[in-house]
Amino acid sequence: MDKLQAYRGKRDAARTPEPVPAEPALTGENPDGGMFVIQEHHARRLHWDVRLERDGVLVSWAVPKGVPDDPAVNHLAVHTEDHPLEYGSFEGEIPRGQYGAGTMTIWDSGRYETLKWAKDEVKIRLHGQRVTGGYTLFQTGGKQWMMHRERQPLPPGLRPMLAALWSTPPPDDGKWALEMKWDGVRALAFVERGQVRLMSRTERDITVAYPELTGLGHATSHKQLLLDGEIVVFGEGGWPEFEALQSRMHVSDASQARLLAGQNP
Ligand code: MN
Repeated sequence: MDKLQAYRGKRDAARTPEPVPAEPALTGENPDGGMFVIQEHHARRLHWDVRLERDGVLVSWAVPKGVPDDPAVNHLAVHTEDHPLEYGSFEGEIPRGQYGAGTMTIWDSGRYETLKWAKDEVKIRLHGQRVTGGYTLFQTGGKQWMMHRERQPLPPGLRPMLAALWSTPPPDDGKWALEMKWDGVRALAFVERGQVRLMSRTERDITVAYPELTGLGHATSHKQLLLDGEIVVFGEGGWPEFEALQSRMHVSDASQARLLAGQNP
């Protein structure tokens, strides 16, 4: 059986720039994983095509809302016909009147690992530029599937980024950004299920000292987030003032922290 029969049946090789191989798909086997691609497809309705290399073809789903970033919100994924492996590098304009007419660009690509591959459930771990981590696709009926993002364990051993001393500025190659010296306290904020945890550069938990920042949890609802930033107190004239921050820095009592937050927010 040629797995690409449905794919070929929808396309006219003379009218679309998409790869339409004449030969049947090779029957390779890759039970442990392979390449993946997510293509942003501005067709009649915008969607993202998630494709996983599996046994000689790209097994595909169209995800109208894109890859979910919130483990609490699954996204509809419509199972579509297997695509040829060559499709993994395709970007271009599918002409009007052709199947899937519109612009296709690669949104992300990389390797994936297979954790489970059943007829109605696919568990994978993606290693891309934009998406990494565990995802599950599960069938809810016919072509209708759902895509679920697994909750990610926050990586251990992380420290806030610190300034380093160099004798010359970095090359002006567009890859660098300037950040002013804030005169504050460098910290990581771990946000999960609406809860915020702040960690200092010495890996001390400093959450209790800055009650103002619990608002980060409400602002990001169920999202999982890791922020690297600097805690500052603004003095007169709107400039960060380290002296004002000093009274806040070593507080470990919640009520004292709230009191000081009122004086030097
Ligand atoms: Mn598509």
